[in-house]
Amino acid sequence: MGGIDTASDVTGVLLLVWIVSGSVCGVIAGTIAGRKNRDSLGFFLLGLLFPVIGVVAAILAAPGEPLPPLGMRAVTCPRCNTRQNVNAQLPNYECWQCKLDVQLPVA
Ligand SMILES: [Zn+2]
Repeated sequence: MGGIDTASDVTGVLLLVWIVSGSVCGVIAGTIAGRKNRDSLGFFLLGLLFPVIGVVAAILAAPGEPLPPLGMRAVTCPRCNTRQNVNAQLPNYECWQCKLDVQLPVA
């Protein structure tokens, strides 16, 4: 028979398929995670190492909370449970939903 090492050829093809599908799935998982305000780099790496699992995990992941703008802090009203961004410098805020005056804990 010829000098072609079939076993290492198959291994090489499988490795190539893994790298290609891992890169594609990594990008998909990272994009899905990014849209959900989740760690897109972490999901990219997960998709890269475990192609199908990473994408499924990104799809199933619960959406993260959006980050408040600079100088604001995200708070949840203790009465009506409304989430809102308020000035981080102020010691209190008035809930826009139920008009409750809420004291903020000192950061
Ligand atoms: Zn409220």
